[in-house]
Amino acid sequence: MSQFWSPLVRTLTPYVPGEQPKVTNLIKLNTNENPYPPSPAVTAAMQAVSAASLRLYPDPDSSQLKQTLADYHGVKPNEIFVGNGSDEVLAFVFMALLKHESPLLFPDITYSFYPVYCRLFGIDYVEVPLNDEMKIDIGDYTGRECGAIIFPNPNAPTGIPLPLSAIEQLLQAQPQAVVVVDEAYVDFGGETALPLMQRYPNLLVVRTFSKSRSLAGLRVGFAVGHPALIEGMERVKNSFNSYPMDRLATAGAVASYQDDAYFRQTVQAVIDSREEMTRALQELGFTVLPSSANFVFARHPAFSAESLAAGLRERAIIVRHFKHPRIDQYLRISIGTPEECQQLVAALTLLTA
Ligand SMILES: *Cc1c(COP(=O)(O)O)cnc(C)c1O
Repeated sequence: MSQFWSPLVRTLTPYVPGEQPKVTNLIKLNTNENPYPPSPAVTAAMQAVSAASLRLYPDPDSSQLKQTLADYHGVKPNEIFVGNGSDEVLAFVFMALLKHESPLLFPDITYSFYPVYCRLFGIDYVEVPLNDEMKIDIGDYTGRECGAIIFPNPNAPTGIPLPLSAIEQLLQAQPQAVVVVDEAYVDFGGETALPLMQRYPNLLVVRTFSKSRSLAGLRVGFAVGHPALIEGMERVKNSFNSYPMDRLATAGAVASYQDDAYFRQTVQAVIDSREEMTRALQELGFTVLPSSANFVFARHPAFSAESLAAGLRERAIIVRHFKHPRIDQYLRISIGTPEECQQLVAALTLLTA
């Protein structure tokens, strides 16, 4: 019955999210979720929301959540946009800020949702190749005519970060273009661009609760930038969905920010496991890109990534393999608990023997 589709729908190639298996006995290292549960304060806060209150619409402006985020990050509530996961925040970013005469620039190897949004919203884009070290070279973005720029920092799926100085250089070189820095993984060792926000009205930083705050299932994300950028996004949001943040998600998200000690402790545990796993994979002969995220991107000179991924799956371990030609020899492996990392390394020891 696809004759009922709007014409645009026929042209879409939707994003394919990492597999969320229905069985629970797998070691799931394929979608960069946090191996640790959210803070107990999150559970308590969500349990304290009375079911009766769900009768009422939530605050359309999410004032409490914005105030909490503003206090923590040292900005004002009108410099914050909140949404249902950063994927939704990014949808508002693309609609409100990234469609211009000149193309949007992003890396050829990056978060694969970006080209999907471009096709959905009719945004012209150019994929700028990473250099031979799989790094973003800011020089490739500074001299080029463009409508806007977006990239994750650290980049995904490489895990490689850009220094703050490079981002500042870009903001200065492209004052007419919005530069969106998707900081989904920044808490695991990247340098946040937030301190540049007050000086550069063309900077927008996007964050998520899904990775470092162990709340992928709650769907909360936000953006921080000049009030004019935020207002542009609010205009689109209020033309689309006035109440995206539900009462439970708001309570959980606020509580997460109130337990900073737990946040720091779990992030550090993931970083420690990443360093240990990197050493173990290198001992097995893998080349591991230098990651500042909660995953590693690794390839083995003697074994194809596709066969290794299949071998791991037979051993009930799932990792991510991308069929993109430049990276099809790599596996992206999320950092699990120390036990999960050990089992991954044990399985790869057998598969590369
Ligand atoms: C995981 C991820 C997101 C999406 O996160 P959600 O908040 O769960 O929608 C956005 N950008 C990048 C680069 C990611 O890896």
